[in-house]
Amino acid sequence: MNKSFENLELRDELKKTLSDLEFTEMTEIQSLAIPVILEGQDITAIAKTGSGKTLVFGLGILNSLDSTNLTLSSLVICPTRELADQVASEIRKFARLIKNTKVITICGGTSQIHQEKSLEYGSQIIVGTPGRLLKLIKEKKISLKGIKNFILDEADKMLDMGFIEDIMEIEKFTPRDKQSLFFSATFPERIQELSSSIQNNSKFIKTKQEESEILISEKFIELLSHKDKESSLIKLLAEYKPQRFIIFCRTKIITDKVNNLLNDHGIISESMHGDLDQNERNVVLRMFDNQSLSSLVATDVAARGLDIGGLDAIINFDLPSKKEEYIHRIGRTGRAGNKGLAFSFFIDKQRKLVDEFCENRFELERSDFIDVMDLNEEQEYNLLPPMCTLYISRGKKDKLRPGDILGAIIGETGITDKSIGKINILNIISYVAIERSKADLVIDNMKNKKIKKKNIKIGFA
Ligand code: ADP
Ligand code: MG
Repeated sequence: MNKSFENLELRDELKKTLSDLEFTEMTEIQSLAIPVILEGQDITAIAKTGSGKTLVFGLGILNSLDSTNLTLSSLVICPTRELADQVASEIRKFARLIKNTKVITICGGTSQIHQEKSLEYGSQIIVGTPGRLLKLIKEKKISLKGIKNFILDEADKMLDMGFIEDIMEIEKFTPRDKQSLFFSATFPERIQELSSSIQNNSKFIKTKQEESEILISEKFIELLSHKDKESSLIKLLAEYKPQRFIIFCRTKIITDKVNNLLNDHGIISESMHGDLDQNERNVVLRMFDNQSLSSLVATDVAARGLDIGGLDAIINFDLPSKKEEYIHRIGRTGRAGNKGLAFSFFIDKQRKLVDEFCENRFELERSDFIDVMDLNEEQEYNLLPPMCTLYISRGKKDKLRPGDILGAIIGETGITDKSIGKINILNIISYVAIERSKADLVIDNMKNKKIKKKNIKIGFA
């Protein structure tokens, strides 16, 4: 199979961007799907999380994009606003050299007025979540008459979340003659149904999943009762000492309880559930991303669609109810050649589920089951994440750039840029990750100082 992007019929701007991004080889799904998309066919592509599906449809959209006007021609529907934001910024990244490309996101949970404003300016590409999209379409704030590319990302998740009706309804507003592209990590039957009702002669493309099976080591821990989970969790963490992990729980109440338990044991973590507002979610994600948190404790809904990589482990505090969900959860660890651990607690009544989750594996080995009694009770676990996040009370509004913050911190404190992590500049506030041992020093030296001639406040986020 040819893995080079060179032989694809891509416009020069895209070829240049791919080489700037140092994308030299296509992933398996990319080499199978991109040529078919460029020929204009409908496809349904199934490939595991992290296999580069965004680029597949990104190139499909951008290669034929007409940037001489701002007519909406591509619609990407995603299950969550985090995913929509992520997809939009990926597309913008790929579109860097194609002048006048506009991508806007239309998602629930944020101001509609704002979105209506950006719709008035127009854009060729909209990335959004089903509910808000449908609302604005019905209010005639969005017209889908010019749609050429209709894309569903994480179609399996959207089906699980009950978005099917919204999606079907949105599709009715699009022209018949268009290219429909569906993407998914798993392949539930309902995707086939959705495909036959929307797509036209769709080509099904599926990559082999074996890579993920080798790279993820699944471990199951049988407990006598759900009540034993908390103490077992602490023992498990003490034994395996993962540095970066997600714990999945069934409900918001459980996430809060588990999060408190971790914090009581000195493990810096945050819970993620549907009740957090957009801002709170972003802060939590940013902290996890810049390594100021060791762990996230999340419900499926909250964790859905997030591209959080580099995890050493995921822990199913509560088992998911479906195999697809299980595969999706464990797919977050063991990416990009790193072996990941996936732990699952279960009680006797759930044995059938565990069997189902493992049914494509040859057989479960004894080593796949962990006996809590074998875990060392004495170990103390209070690992601190390497970084912590500070806020600075200035942002884009003050024309602040990452270099200004970096320069000011290095200048005032003498620490090197190695101790400074990701910098995020928002409208009126910025966040910077600082090596944990240097954080107090930075705060002490920076408070009451100025950046770009403006007084700042600084502190722990
Ligand atoms: P998926 O949607 O399949 O879960 P993503 O599209 O989010 O995966 O891609 C995962 C990561 O891989 C992204 O950071 C993306 O920029 C990167 N990526 C995609 N294709 C390539 C490639 N051919 N070479 C290197 N990196 C790639
Ligand atoms: Mg994706």
